[in-house]
Amino acid sequence: MNPKERFIRCLKGQEVDRFPVINPTSVATIESASGLNINLCDVHLDPDKTAALACTGHDLLGFDSAAPYFSVILEAAALGCEIAWGTRTSMPSIKKHAFDDPDQFKMPLDFLDRKPIKTLLEAIRKIKCRYGNNIIIIGKAMGPWTLSYNLHGLQDFLIETVTEPEKVKGFVEKFKEITVAFAAAQIEAGADAIQLSDHVTADLISPATYVDFLLPVHKEIRNRIGDIPVILHVCGKTLDRIKHFSDTGFDLFHIDSNNDLKKARQELKGKMELTGAVNNLILFNGSREEVKEQTLKCLEAGIKFISPECAIPPGVKNENLVEIVNTVDKYCKNTN
Ligand SMILES: [Zn+2]
Repeated sequence: MNPKERFIRCLKGQEVDRFPVINPTSVATIESASGLNINLCDVHLDPDKTAALACTGHDLLGFDSAAPYFSVILEAAALGCEIAWGTRTSMPSIKKHAFDDPDQFKMPLDFLDRKPIKTLLEAIRKIKCRYGNNIIIIGKAMGPWTLSYNLHGLQDFLIETVTEPEKVKGFVEKFKEITVAFAAAQIEAGADAIQLSDHVTADLISPATYVDFLLPVHKEIRNRIGDIPVILHVCGKTLDRIKHFSDTGFDLFHIDSNNDLKKARQELKGKMELTGAVNNLILFNGSREEVKEQTLKCLEAGIKFISPECAIPPGVKNENLVEIVNTVDKYCKNTN
């Protein structure tokens, strides 16, 4: 069973040789990058380096997937935000937002040709060319809520959900076109699944805000992306809104270890599968034994698609990531 078959069969509830180990977010490490003689800050605008680093997820770590979008800023970079591209050992961040008002934004006709976007699309084509249908290529697009944080500013945007709800709706309506266009282009380039990041975390907004402003838009995005697995990613606490996620039609929810995983599964009532939730701090600071314990905790909670809970800190040691795969492998052999 190759990794792609394993993933697709597992999603359909069919029998698999072992549960898939995937990375809906980044598993790019400094260690993997050094092995390729590249710096983390140099990969984001270079399709060859992006593809090479993404492939280490499968080649070095043994994951079933390769995910070439390592950060959260490509759309923002393409749409005029000022970006700090990070260092040899860190990921990029946004320095200056681009839009004060939804009326200032018009979807650019050349969006897909802008360098940060084009780089990712070319990287996906290269990975597809190398592996064909043997592994799962996970593309990624920011949802309209996270795009609003990135393009307009998190604090202003959150305040406006209360003071100027029409403005918030305006941003979401406009920015959803970015999500759909970027996801569709990645699918065309060869992505087998799309991870949609939309940070509607409990620390930031209420479940009612999610339902009012975003749930209908998520349903629309699901329909417009078409028949391909979509993984919703929201880090942090989400247990009180998880039942609403199951109404989106997305296939998987990428959950953070900060939530009761068993309760989360109950909330989803089988309408959506979970992926996660190996704790990032343990991956970063912990021993292989502790990583194994964390991975077993996820498996015992009934999670079938094991993954790190979020983008890992680049300083994580590769041996800790390999330990996730080894643990899933042994667990599935023992329970078969
Ligand atoms: Zn996250």
